[in-house]
Amino acid sequence: METKITIRFFGSLVDLVGKQYVQLDAGINQTIKDCVERLGVPHTEVYFITLQKSFVRFDKIVKNGDMYFVYPECNLDIPKEYILTPKYEGVPKFILDIHLGKLARLLRMLGISAEYGVVDDNEIVSKALSENLIILTRDRGILKRNEVTYGYILRSDDPKTQLREVTLRYSLQNWFAPFTRCMECNGKLISVPKRDVQEHVPEKVRETFDEFAKCERCGKIYWGGTHYENMSVFIEKFLKDIPRKKF
Ligand SMILES: [Zn+2]
Repeated sequence: METKITIRFFGSLVDLVGKQYVQLDAGINQTIKDCVERLGVPHTEVYFITLQKSFVRFDKIVKNGDMYFVYPECNLDIPKEYILTPKYEGVPKFILDIHLGKLARLLRMLGISAEYGVVDDNEIVSKALSENLIILTRDRGILKRNEVTYGYILRSDDPKTQLREVTLRYSLQNWFAPFTRCMECNGKLISVPKRDVQEHVPEKVRETFDEFAKCERCGKIYWGGTHYENMSVFIEKFLKDIPRKKF
């Protein structure tokens, strides 16, 4: 017996599927979650689903002729029991897969917590769960794991475009604090008196700068300079392009 269903995707989910409407022969005893994930949309990207104007849960078994509407996170008022992936609460903190090193550095530069360097997918997932982190990845498989709650698939493979995507998705502009985090290890920077660090920086730097910061995790020392100025210009340009959003 056939189980032909139609799924209509909305908003940013269309990017993942490549089209709005998909017809699918689901097979016997399949849940809507299986069907949606089979089409390349991890459950972490789905906020709610409707069938004939009623909300359904992920374990709904699909039937021949069904037509489902699948939505990404939005500001609609959805009954709690039908919210399939809860919104992330508080300051967004991320863990990035090993292919996203450039994005990790950009996020850190803006003061956003971005853990990076874990190679193994299992470890990424367990760290995300124990520290309540959002997984950023281009690998849809990792976000299809049942135990993962928070995750986002980067649509672009260009780091600056990815930064824009993540900023818009999680309203990061509300949390930006440039130059407060270590680019190398994600540790927080604390300002330190010049006398404490002057022996550890080049002479030229010692002569030119008076303000220093140190990473509380790895001890790297930071000061102003050309690199700092270039980054400031980048940040200013980037922020101009991001609409200011209120809660
Ligand atoms: Zn560091």
